[in-house]
Amino acid sequence: MEAGRRWTRRGFLAGVGVVAGLSAGARRALSSIGPVLGVPPLTTANPYEELGVKAVVNAQGTMTYLGGSLIRPEVEAVMCAAAKHYVNIVDLHVAAGARIAQMLKLPEDYTAYVTSGAAGAIVSGTAAVITGNNPEFIERIPDLTGMKSEVIIQKSHRYPFDHQIRCCGIKLVEVETPDELRKAVCDKTALLFFTNYLNSAGRIKVDEFARLAKELRIPSFNDAAADTPPVSRLTEYVSMGYDMVTFSGGKAIRGPQCAGLLLGRKGIIGNAILNTSPYEDTLCRAQKVGKEEIVGMVKALELYLEDDHEALTREWWRRLDQIAAQLKRLDGVSTAYHVPEIANHVPSMQVFWDPRKYSLAPADAAKFLLAGQPSIAVGQGREGLSLTAFMLQPGEEKIVAAGLERMFRAHTV
Ligand SMILES: *Cc1c(COP(=O)(O)O)cnc(C)c1O
Repeated sequence: MEAGRRWTRRGFLAGVGVVAGLSAGARRALSSIGPVLGVPPLTTANPYEELGVKAVVNAQGTMTYLGGSLIRPEVEAVMCAAAKHYVNIVDLHVAAGARIAQMLKLPEDYTAYVTSGAAGAIVSGTAAVITGNNPEFIERIPDLTGMKSEVIIQKSHRYPFDHQIRCCGIKLVEVETPDELRKAVCDKTALLFFTNYLNSAGRIKVDEFARLAKELRIPSFNDAAADTPPVSRLTEYVSMGYDMVTFSGGKAIRGPQCAGLLLGRKGIIGNAILNTSPYEDTLCRAQKVGKEEIVGMVKALELYLEDDHEALTREWWRRLDQIAAQLKRLDGVSTAYHVPEIANHVPSMQVFWDPRKYSLAPADAAKFLLAGQPSIAVGQGREGLSLTAFMLQPGEEKIVAAGLERMFRAHTV
């Protein structure tokens, strides 16, 4: 450390430019951080509020920026039980994966792996097919000298999470047609990657892509992170022949937020484990999954598979209907429903309004609701707001309806 310069938390954060990017509230909280003993203890009542951060009513969906989804009491209970003992983490990973494969009735040569999330599954799955079980390769990645270094993806399937492929040192090779794909395959090809929610955007559809991978004998990966419900999707892509498929644990399955599922061929999953924490000189050491999350993920999936999904869907519609009924009383406000085919295949409601009757742009409407008390998060489109009800807690539909009504009344022209 430099002589004559005292290390302080504020000085350090300011020095690295972190403070500049924070919200005003976060900056205020940072400036009031005192010596440890002068800080009020957190209780279990509302730790967020005690930290000065507002809890949010989530009418938007399974958004990572809001904390994903809420675990159920049963999941919380097994996570607390898991926190009371030490365990060999690799043994636990293998056993949890076997249990998940059993619950999903995966084919004999498949198993599962609880990763830090779908994004983490993309990194460790890609690393697995690059390094195999070669210890030198595992230590050297993302320097890919002497290893396969290309992943083929459809041009229309490029998306933010392909950063998780590129961070393995990989060059992405873009193709559009089956012919281009065949020609792009060479001895450097490690993987064929499919972005499930972009299925309709690509010339090669999800089932044909899996067939091509098999024909060309290259491993295939399908990112289906937000693509359950329906439950059937959890096994559909393995049935098509994908060698690896990922789902987020902390979205509709309501597992721990920092967990996800990587389903895959046993050999590949074994190599994914070798590339990940607790092993230290690995690419994915930073993707640690705790014993509590591993066990919580198993329990969450068990509950999810046992759910009455039709009853849940009816309840989500009922909540949206209730909000719509209240909004109908407002002159010039209308609603419309829609269910995305893929990615969050759940009831969703758009709210529109006559701009001559309410002076409010959609972006300002979303901000107004988020800044309100209670704070309500909704999605925002070009023409209006977009709501889902599947992440609401029972009764919160009333809060959302009242919040929307307050907003419109406050902006009546
Ligand atoms: C949410 C999402 C991810 C990231 O999943 P995490 O579980 O948050 O890591 C990746 N791909 C898609 C398509 C997603 O929707």
